[in-house]
Amino acid sequence: MDIEEIQKKLVSKEASCVEITKEYLKNITSLNEKLNAFITVTSEKALSEAEKIDNEIDESEDLDVLFSLKPLLGVPMAHKDLFSTKDIETTAGSNILRGYIPPYDATAVKRIKDAGTVMLGKLNCDAFAHGTTGENSDFGPALNPYDLSRPAGGSSSGSGVAVSAEMAVFATGTDTGGSIRTPASFTNVCGLKPTYGRVSRYGIIAMASSLDSIGHLTRTVKDSARVLKVTAGYDPFDSTSSKIKVPDYLESIIGVKGLKIGVPEEYMGDGIDPEVKSAVKNALKVYEKLGAEIASVSLPHTKYAIAVYYVIVPSEVSSNLARYDGIRFGNSRESFGDEAKRRIMIGTYALSAGYYDAYYLKAQKVRTLVIQDFKKAFEKIDILLGPAMPVLPPKLGENSDDPLKNYLLDVLTCPVNLAGLPALSVPAGFSKEGLPIGIQLIGDHFAEDALFRAGYTYEQETRYYEQKPQLPLKGEDPDGI
Ligand code: GLN
Repeated sequence: MDIEEIQKKLVSKEASCVEITKEYLKNITSLNEKLNAFITVTSEKALSEAEKIDNEIDESEDLDVLFSLKPLLGVPMAHKDLFSTKDIETTAGSNILRGYIPPYDATAVKRIKDAGTVMLGKLNCDAFAHGTTGENSDFGPALNPYDLSRPAGGSSSGSGVAVSAEMAVFATGTDTGGSIRTPASFTNVCGLKPTYGRVSRYGIIAMASSLDSIGHLTRTVKDSARVLKVTAGYDPFDSTSSKIKVPDYLESIIGVKGLKIGVPEEYMGDGIDPEVKSAVKNALKVYEKLGAEIASVSLPHTKYAIAVYYVIVPSEVSSNLARYDGIRFGNSRESFGDEAKRRIMIGTYALSAGYYDAYYLKAQKVRTLVIQDFKKAFEKIDILLGPAMPVLPPKLGENSDDPLKNYLLDVLTCPVNLAGLPALSVPAGFSKEGLPIGIQLIGDHFAEDALFRAGYTYEQETRYYEQKPQLPLKGEDPDGI
């Protein structure tokens, strides 16, 4: 169900919030052992929140007012385990923070709670959000509901699985170089990476502070717009959060007539899987049919984006992870995983005296060129469209012998983070083998409304999101799960 369907049931009393919550908890109980989406399930808390919501609805004299004050009322959801949740263990997917109980809620958690949701638990992710497949989690990889021999995509791996396998209506995620769009496109759900600064980062465990962006994964584009309306906006606790007004994204969500869509030629070149390319070409045909104008554009510095990203990110990671010294914060530094250690070493090196100018400073200069590419493109077009990921979901362990192989998978997602732009990944069909493919829509700063409009119109025309994974899991006895 999407948010609207759930709320309709609540208003018509066809189902209570407790009943709906129990359905989701049942899915979690039967599927999580296999899929490994949740690190923590907070069933008791969820049911007591649901009961309170039922009472609130029963006692309300005006349901319209109640639902406008609490736009996500009664919706069961879950948070990536990178979001601080008061009194609930928050691990960042790492052994370093195993056992850590935050004394406060992140701003996004608080806003989502205040909007009336039921929190079901905390979701698996690559440790400290370092990764592209979810396999860097110290809790083991979350598996792809469409093919259990493949990971779900990371770093917000559990978020993708939970929404895809209907263990939550929506899930939060973070995106520093693709971590929302990657699992979204690998699990056939919709993933939004908002503009840098659109959503407060306060209380979310930092990865690379000049790129971290807080978003969510949903079944539909409309749900994505609904959740952003709640999470977006200025927060005095995060000085990078923007004061720009949050629009009503649902107001003009349909229609792409006259919309100018640019296709970056660098996003359709060598190294892109032919099945991914053909899904993108099909999407362009749909847009053309719906009245959009398609043009080819060039983002010539795309080829430097991976190199720039993998200097800036480890540098900022090494600084942010310095606080986990095992004295003030975190368990013993010995428990850092290989990927965190790798980034600490590369970042410390890139920032050290004598090397700073050659690496970090140089990377920041090239970053400016990447930003200028996008800005120039947006002078002529409204949004950009390309694949979210260059390849189909890999096999478990396929890239584990060489971290560079995973780094290269970020080639189409990380430029967006370097430029601080918003991007939306929308389901765009399946490979011959039945693996999901996502397209990525990229907008100018704070143009999330254009992304929702383009995403929603396409989604309603194609409805790929309706093709759910086959659950109970293929060929398995549901009682045996
Ligand atoms: N795959 C990228 C990385 O490993 C992105 C991670 C993210 O967005 N959190 O850095």
